[in-house]
Amino acid sequence: MLRTRGYKYELCVNNKERTLLTKCAGISRFTWNWGLASRKQRYRTQTGTARYTDAIKQHKELNRLKNTDFPWMYEVSKCVPQEALRDLDRGYQNFFTNHQQRKKNRTIRYVGLPRFKKKGKCKDSFRLTGVVRLFPAVKQVQLPRLGKLRLKETPNLPVSARILSATISRTADRWSVALTVKEEQPDRKPNGGPLVALDKGLSVFAALSSGIPIARPNFLLRQARKQCRLSKAHSRKENGSNNKRKSALRLAQFYRRITNQRHNFLHQTSTYLAKNHSVIVTEDLYVKGLMQNKKLSKYWADLSHGLFQRFLAYKAPFYGSTLIEIDRWFPSSKLCSNCLYYQQDLTLADRVFHCPLCGLVLDRDQNAACNVANYYVIYRFRLFPVAESSAETLNACGEVVKPASEQARVDESGRTAPRTVCNNCS
Ligand SMILES: [Zn+2]
Repeated sequence: MLRTRGYKYELCVNNKERTLLTKCAGISRFTWNWGLASRKQRYRTQTGTARYTDAIKQHKELNRLKNTDFPWMYEVSKCVPQEALRDLDRGYQNFFTNHQQRKKNRTIRYVGLPRFKKKGKCKDSFRLTGVVRLFPAVKQVQLPRLGKLRLKETPNLPVSARILSATISRTADRWSVALTVKEEQPDRKPNGGPLVALDKGLSVFAALSSGIPIARPNFLLRQARKQCRLSKAHSRKENGSNNKRKSALRLAQFYRRITNQRHNFLHQTSTYLAKNHSVIVTEDLYVKGLMQNKKLSKYWADLSHGLFQRFLAYKAPFYGSTLIEIDRWFPSSKLCSNCLYYQQDLTLADRVFHCPLCGLVLDRDQNAACNVANYYVIYRFRLFPVAESSAETLNACGEVVKPASEQARVDESGRTAPRTVCNNCS
């Protein structure tokens, strides 16, 4: 089966090449802004279907203007503006599709209209299509109009891979090329490893149902003082000065290093989980909602749980394992993983779970991870009740149980009874 995959390599460029790459990125940004302004004006001034346009029409229009208004565009490949207009078109398509979907389901995340890109604020990047070749023996990549550029490492592209496009981007002062390729996917045997469940959190990055917690790395928070010092130094420099430019670069290099460390950790962790487990069960964490807590948002942001989930999603099928995302409303922390006792009054400060029914004493995150694993093993065919209004569920022995009302679940001793215990097994 053919699949699309990306390979990213860092470029080793001299000053002349760096100027040329910056020029390409600038033309890509200009074309995007020109296309967006043109579309907005068309929408305001025209009526009916004439209000809308597409990438092909816009590229033809731009080609007509190139000779007279933008002759400097001939210095770079025609692919640069063409791909920028295609990206813009995709942005509009996403907006319209999302608008239609949200009419049916308002809970879908809102996708806005494309916005203008500001020089110095947006990411410098552009895409090239056409003849892109790799020369692994001499560590070079050949790009349209740019010629051969040196790479910092030997490319490990499979021989059968067909290169579709090359996206060149800059992070701080380093340029890299990302190749999108079509390659043959080898038939993977189903992974023979055990099941693992994750409870993602703040105190540890993730607690595994196997009992081994993954520690929280704290890449940015560990260097908070350095971040503070660099930011303060940058803000004190005079606007437009060379010193301002240099301090901005130092800050960008600092953030690039943090990002690389974080990505390395996320890649290693997700690869380990996908490679060694047949089923990975995780909770669908509502990261956007968690980030709204101003005291905790920087801690959540430093962990990048959303990116980790995306890594798992594409790596799991690659290594023959299955990724299961369970409902975010499943009360994994409040249930006893041994007897399913539901502890209503558990707070965030309670780091150890004490079960008054069976006497289980377990780390809070570890207990939650076991519950997530139980959810998949026992309840995978039915939804677990997450609210009083939920209809029914399966309990541990397979009986269908209707959740009792809050009043009925309080026994004579005043304790809340387990939420899902049936007459057969209790
Ligand atoms: Zn218990």
